[in-house]
Amino acid sequence: QRMVTMLPADLIDRVLGSCQSEIEHHHVTVHVEDESGGALINVDRDQMIQACLNIVLNALQALEGATEFNRLPIQHPVRPRLDIGISAEGEEVHLIFADNGPGISPLLIDRIFDPFVTTKDAGTGLGLARVFAIAEGHGGWIEARNGVHAGAIFELVIPRFQHSI
Ligand code: ADP
Ligand code: MG
Repeated sequence: QRMVTMLPADLIDRVLGSCQSEIEHHHVTVHVEDESGGALINVDRDQMIQACLNIVLNALQALEGATEFNRLPIQHPVRPRLDIGISAEGEEVHLIFADNGPGISPLLIDRIFDPFVTTKDAGTGLGLARVFAIAEGHGGWIEARNGVHAGAIFELVIPRFQHSI
């Protein structure tokens, strides 16, 4: 493991930078709100980029269906979007990824981090299992829920880096 101390916003920048073409291709509006006030995280950068990328790519895939749906002329236009919130709460940094796609199937939501659970024809079902392992490996955790109105919400929690004297 190669641990790096960084701002969570820099992590998100790198994640979005590495999937910029997919975001543009899917016409998804990504909005980042950083309220972490300079809190730092100490992470294996490549692993944590991979974890966030898995979450973001899943969101783009979920929104893809929604975009197809919205091509129907009679459908009220809902623009596909992904909102990423960064905040510091006590000893934790929270990264919240909220999309406005169809949300997670209720039949699946309790098993979503288990390996091989997928609803995709060519899915491996390994992405979120990997995210779960990376979160735990950093002393953090990951949680999934559906939004009140629409979409899926993934909350990734990473311990805040504590400065030593
Ligand atoms: P895969 O992407 O190969 O299917 P994952 O472990 O990444 O495997 O995801 C498992 C399943 O979780 C997906 O097949 C999908 O059903 C569900 N899922 C993940 N992210 C979202 C999301 N943003 N919206 C709706 N469902 C999701
Ligand atoms: Mg996936």
